[in-house]
Amino acid sequence: MRREIVEGRSLGFDQLTPEPVDGRFGFVPGASLPNGLGRSGVITTPHGTIRTPAFVAVGTKATVKAVLPESMAALGAQAVLANAYHLYLQPGADVIAAAGGLGRFMNWPGPTFTDSGGFQVMSLGVGFKKMLAMNVDSLEDDDVIAAGKTRLAQVDDDGVTFTSHLDGSQHRFTPEASMQIQHQLGADIIFAFDECTTLLNTRHYQERSVARTQRWAARCLAEHRRLTRAHASLPRQALFAVVQGAQYEDLRRQAARDLVSLVVDGLRFDGYGIGGALEKDNLGTIVRWVCEELPEDKARHLLGISEPNDIFTAIENGVDTFDCVSPSRVARNAAVYTARGRFNVNTAASRRNFSPIDEDCDCYTCTRYTQAYLHHLFKAREMLAATLCTIHNERFVVRLVDDIRSSIENGTFVDFKIDFLSRYYASSPQSDR
Ligand SMILES: [Zn+2]
Repeated sequence: MRREIVEGRSLGFDQLTPEPVDGRFGFVPGASLPNGLGRSGVITTPHGTIRTPAFVAVGTKATVKAVLPESMAALGAQAVLANAYHLYLQPGADVIAAAGGLGRFMNWPGPTFTDSGGFQVMSLGVGFKKMLAMNVDSLEDDDVIAAGKTRLAQVDDDGVTFTSHLDGSQHRFTPEASMQIQHQLGADIIFAFDECTTLLNTRHYQERSVARTQRWAARCLAEHRRLTRAHASLPRQALFAVVQGAQYEDLRRQAARDLVSLVVDGLRFDGYGIGGALEKDNLGTIVRWVCEELPEDKARHLLGISEPNDIFTAIENGVDTFDCVSPSRVARNAAVYTARGRFNVNTAASRRNFSPIDEDCDCYTCTRYTQAYLHHLFKAREMLAATLCTIHNERFVVRLVDDIRSSIENGTFVDFKIDFLSRYYASSPQSDR
């Protein structure tokens, strides 16, 4: 019994790809879009393969909120991304290292990612999401601190000092510290420590920030190499750089080129992340600038997007993997995705509706439960409401990306995109377009 639990094979993980025997990391591109950067491919990690393009489920604190790992595997999730900042504070990276690494700790036998903690740490700097300013010298028009918020993070050229959101204790992340934490966590794909800026920062600040992120990238590579050699018996972790540069084409392209050409003691980055300030309207353009500069034989990850049309835009412009917290976050507030748009299952329209969320959905929830039951669970504040709606939304995004991958391989991407988006947004008053 003990063995079954550790390996998890008889508990619902059968859909995950078995572990590759050589335990190496790699990316092999497959089909590509005509006249475009979009492509399919396969990422190989020590804990299995990821068919790309792929949605990476978000399990910030080593759990996809409200859902068993077995359910995530059963609905087709291929990988999970956790957050180094949260796990460093709680339970502590040393605890997860002692448990045998992130995957074993959370009972997820498949591939794992951790992001560097930079985004979360620096979000503390301004007190609200996605609007980040780390200028510590002169705040002036780079000062975008939300009214009434206290600055909890300070950036300097060596790293970031921050105050824990949990207990007010003081901490410091440097590129070396981020690598040490992410090596203790042991995810298959880890990210270099970068500075996140906002669209509201000045051009001058963005230039200085990109230069700082580049210096930090070199320090991350050096520390990653040292740690990899020091712990040669552990599964090899892949390190991705993060391309910043906000909304400036020249900064984005130069940042990408500089990171691609960066070699430290013979070591290059295994892949590239695209981070920082991205707005819905410029998402595709910025992703395209960056991906045009990146080598074809390295995987590309987009850090954090939200809605279905963003997914098409990102993949079309060259992204192989992306993480997305929206499916589970909105599910906990009763919002569910369907082929005909998004709606809230806790409104009166669902109270006596004995159909599933989506007649065409093959998920655990839709094949067993009605909208009326889900409506009841939300009204009664029952925890199962979050579980069942999260399963549906995660399956919806997984299936969408599976279909996009097939359409790239079949040469039907453009038709599929037009067909899907026209239906999704045609009758969806609550869609986020
Ligand atoms: Zn469903």
